[in-house]
Parts: sequence; structure tokens; C-alpha cells
Amino acid sequence: MTTYAPPLREMLFAMKEHGGLDAVLAQPGNEEVTGELVGAILDEASKFAANVLAPINAQGDTQGCRWHDGAVTTADGFKKAYAGFCESGWNGMPAAVEFGGQGMPTLLSTAVLEMWKASNMAFSLCQMLTLGAVEAITHHASDELKQRYLPAMVEGRWTGTMNITEPQAGSDLAAIRTKAVPEADHYRISGTKIFITWGEHDMAQNIIHLVLARLPDAPPGVKGISLFVCPKFLVNADGSLGERNDLVCASIEHKIGIHGSATAVMSFGEGAGAIGWLVGEANQGLSCMFTMMNHARLNVGLEGVAISDRAYQKARQFALERVQGKTLGREGEPSLTIIGHPDVRRMLMDMKARVEAMRALAYYAAGLMDRAHGHADTTARQSAQTLVDLLIPIVKGWCTDNALGITSDGVQVHGGMGFIEETGASQHLRDARITTIYEGTTGIQANDLIGRKLARDGGRAMKQLIATMHADLDAAGDSGASRDALQSGIATALRGGIKSLTEATDWVLAAPAREAAAGAVPYLKLAGTVIAGWLMARGARAATAQLAHRPGEGGEGGDSNGDGDFFGAQRITAQHYALHVLPHAGALRDTVLHGASTTLGLTDAQF
Ligand SMILES: Cc1cc2nc3c(=O)[nH]c(=O)nc-3n(C[C@H](O)[C@H](O)[C@H](O)COP(=O)(O)OP(=O)(O)OC[C@H]3O[C@@H](n4cnc5c(N)ncnc54)[C@H](O)[C@@H]3O)c2cc1C
Repeated sequence: MTTYAPPLREMLFAMKEHGGLDAVLAQPGNEEVTGELVGAILDEASKFAANVLAPINAQGDTQGCRWHDGAVTTADGFKKAYAGFCESGWNGMPAAVEFGGQGMPTLLSTAVLEMWKASNMAFSLCQMLTLGAVEAITHHASDELKQRYLPAMVEGRWTGTMNITEPQAGSDLAAIRTKAVPEADHYRISGTKIFITWGEHDMAQNIIHLVLARLPDAPPGVKGISLFVCPKFLVNADGSLGERNDLVCASIEHKIGIHGSATAVMSFGEGAGAIGWLVGEANQGLSCMFTMMNHARLNVGLEGVAISDRAYQKARQFALERVQGKTLGREGEPSLTIIGHPDVRRMLMDMKARVEAMRALAYYAAGLMDRAHGHADTTARQSAQTLVDLLIPIVKGWCTDNALGITSDGVQVHGGMGFIEETGASQHLRDARITTIYEGTTGIQANDLIGRKLARDGGRAMKQLIATMHADLDAAGDSGASRDALQSGIATALRGGIKSLTEATDWVLAAPAREAAAGAVPYLKLAGTVIAGWLMARGARAATAQLAHRPGEGGEGGDSNGDGDFFGAQRITAQHYALHVLPHAGALRDTVLHGASTTLGLTDAQF
């Protein structure tokens, strides 16, 4: 069995220093969310993640889901864990109080969701999809539909899905063909949807499918797509379950990873048509989906953070136990555990530094989402929203791309045992693989970043962020950080990174669209590397201040609660990031500026 110990201290540090926890809690509407409550929630969530979800993660992987005659049976322990999850109120934690949720800030729910994802990513997807559907219904459905569906979905008695993808319509939603024909107060839906996460299972009484489909007179392309709510079991006026709707899970996929979650082929309307109700206006389905896109993409980016942290924990544990080889220069001494080897230490530090940088970025975005939602001042809300819109494709694309490398390094630290399934290291690599694909591939995130987020304001939001980073560095210098060798080294690396990001931004804004698109993914990675590098530098400054203020010590180590070790480690982790990760910014800049010549250079036949 592989274990998971939620890194509560690191999470709280990121919530405070990067997510702006104190400011979020001070916002109107969060009066009841005190610092103690935050601590208590994180504590309880960590117990559920470590004691209930983590222990069934491996059997979810090995047993997977089983399909028989349209029904799906989940792996042993999943049904019971889901019941406990809902009974403890975890399912609806971020949802509106009005429908039975707890209305917790996004920053807090992000930290809690990280624990579900790290302990059992396949399991966590069920709640993630349900919350997405809840958000879409909350914002766009009629009051009647809200009352009919939301309380049971928030409670978790019913789960939700997003039915977007069709065999011919993946990244290109304009190609969606599923039909919706009006009939009385509802619609009859027919068509095939593929890859539907938790589209069928045995953990809940009902499954509420949100389906993108076309009305008979809809205009072609994305302007003719509407959103429908389509339950597995129709719901009677008194809320009880009625007849089975005309939709069925035709099969489930065999996949590289996340075996514990069913990925369903859904067939709607094999008979008279599945009954569904319109959510929002006709032909506005895509903009309804956009409402929930930022949360959904933040949450998949968070999967990158979570699965990487799990892989790091596992690799660290193995490195502390595996005995192999001697210390360089001390060949006569007994063999050592591999954590003594410089290269293993490098791999572990790379993993740790990148996990913390990703968490910093994800929590920064989550805190901005709370600011955009609830800050008392309209201008502050708007500028936070602009920054959220800019950052979300970076959080999604960069954190998930990193996760592939980090979980692969996790296997590498294990040597041959990493390649052997029984150690569990490979499950993290396999589970991570989907994160760069669903909820928009990295290529689609990068197109969004340069084609919409940069282009729509001539790069103003990015340039403002760059100006903030410069101002922050200047202020840090003034505060004396430049006299601290570690911090001044970080600042030098960061200034180089910011320069690369500035030059690449100017180039992308000026380049012809096809050439800019050739550099879009390297640009996204460059942006993630540098913005997270800036947050790491801020974290190092905060840790330095904490160390300086410790009563009677003013140095690292030697304290009973480990604060000195913790803050000292934060500084060194930020330094590692500056020395080992930030230098890649220069190479990424070069690729953005010059890469299109080879990318676009061959004819199709020459590939
Ligand atoms: C396990 C799993 C779970 C999923 N869950 C759901 C779900 O719950 N609901 C749902 O509706 N869907 C779901 N999906 C579908 C998922 O969102 C799509 O697979 C994804 O959007 C990519 O679409 P595609 O597979 O058709 O790939 P394609 O769109 O065919 O893309 C293939 C490649 O071409 C690239 N590409 C395509 N278009 C462009 C472009 N314009 N610019 C640059 N590059 C481009 C892509 O980046 C990719 O590398 C899931 C998929 C999987 C595998």
C-alpha cells in the first residue's frame, strides 16, 4: 500500500504567501471563515485523504471499473468511500449555501481538492465533474431546474457529468452533432458522446448529464450549440426518482491510467430520445460552459500539482530506504541509502521545487478568483478577473506538463523498481498522463493564451504582470534582500527570466498568427516558469522574514516545532528553482522567437 501525507504546512504557507489567505478571509461574505476554521478543515480533509482515499487508490488502479450490460461497478471500497465523503459534507464544500453547500472560498477548496486529487485522482474526478455541473446549473438554469437538481447534487446523492466530446468533435466543438428536438416543455436528445468521465457508475442514485447539442434550426459552428440537463432517471415533482431516461452507457474505455474512474461512451436516444431541459439560452451553450471553464481548468492544473506531490513523496520515501552504493570519496565505508547520492538529491530537489512552484501558481490563481468574486471594490474585482483569465491556461498547461516530467522522475528515483507495477510509482506517471489532454490539450491552452488572452488587450494584462514582478523585485532590493546572497542570486535569475518573458511577449504580439502559434506552447511554458519563479522568490523573502523574527534565534534549525527547518528549506527550494529551472527561460524564449522556421518548414509529405 502506498501512503500519502498531505503537506499541510506547505499548503498553508502557499495559501498565505501566494493565495493571500488573510485578505480572502477579510472579504465580505467570509465572516464565518476564521483562520481556526481553515486549520480545522484542512486537518479533517487530510485525515480523510490519508486514511480513506489513499488506501483504495491502488486497488482502483488494478481492479478498475467493470461494465456489464450498461451498468458499471466501481472498484472495491469506492462506493463506501464515496458514501463517507458525502456524509462528511466534503462533496458540496465549495457550492452555494443556498443549495446545501458550505460556500467556502476557492482558495480553501483548492487546498482541500489538492488532497483528494493526490490521494486518489480517479475518485476525485467524480466530485470535480459534479461541481462543474453544479456551477453551470447555478449560473444558467431556471429556478425550477436549480431546485430540482442542485440540492441532491451538492449533497452528492446524485453526481454530474459534462457530455461535450463526440468521435468527430474533440478540440473542435464546432463539429458537435448531437441533436435536441423540442417537445412540450422539454427536448428529445439523441447522439453519441465519448470519453465521459464518471458517465455511469454505482456510487450514486442518479447521474445528471449536462449535454451539448444542436437544435434543429441552430446556426452552424460554435454559435449553434445549446446546453441541456439530461438525468439518468427522470425526477418526479416531489423529488423522487421516476422512469429511466432514454440514455445508456454503451461501453467504458480501457486506459493508460485513472482506472478507478469510468470513462464512458454514452448513447442518448436509442428510442424516442432522451428527455432533457435547456440550460440558459438556446445557442448559448458554449458561453454557459465558459462560466465554469476557469474553475475546471484550475482544478485540472491542480491535478498536476497533486499527482506530482504524491510522486515526490513516494520517491523521497524510497530514496530514504533503498541502500545502494557508497559515498563518493568514502568507498571503504558501508553502503548508503540512495538519498546520499548527489544525482538522486538533484532529482528529489527538482521534484520538490517544481511541486512548490506549481502550488504557488495554482493557489495564487485561486486567491485571485476569490478576489474577483468577492472583493468589496469593483476595480479590484475586475483587475483580479483579468489576471485570472490570463493565468488559467498557464496553470492548466504548465502544471500538467510539469507533472509528466515529475512523475517520470519519480519512477527514475526508484530505478528498476519504478518500472515494476507493485511499487506504485508508475501509477502516478500513468494517472498524470491524461492531465495534459482533457479539459483542453496543452496546445489548446497555449492557443487560448496567445490567441485570446494576449491578443484581446494587446498584451496589457501580461505587461502589467511583468511590471508588478519588476516592482516587486525592486522593492525587495530596497528592503535589504539584495544583501542576502541567496536572495540576490534568486533575484538575478528572476530578472533574466522576466527579460526572456518580456521579449517573447513582444515577439508573439507582433508575429503573424501561424508563426506565433508555432511558439505558443513554449511561450506558455516560459510564462509558467517565470511567473512561478517570481512567486518562489516572494516565498523565499517571506521565509527569510519568518526566520529573522523567530524569538531569540534568528537562524535556521534547532527548534522544537521545526519552523526553522521549514523556513530554511523554503529558501533553499526557491534557490534550487532559480538555479535549475529558471535558466530554462532563456532557451524557451529562443524557441519562441526562432522555432517557427523549422516547425512550419516541412511539407506534410516530408514528416
Ligand atoms: C480519460 C478521458 C476523460 C475525458 N473526460 C471527458 C468528459 O468528461 N467530458 C467530455 O466531454 N470529454 C472528455 N474527454 C475528452 C477530452 O476532453 C478530449 O479528448 C480532448 O479535448 C482532446 O480531444 P480529442 O481527443 O478529440 O483530440 P484532438 O482534438 O483530435 O487532438 C489531437 C491532437 O491535435 C492537437 N490539436 C487539435 N486541434 C488543435 C488546434 N486547433 N491547435 C493546436 N493543436 C490542436 C491536440 O492538441 C492534440 O495534440 C476525456 C478524455 C479522456 C481521454
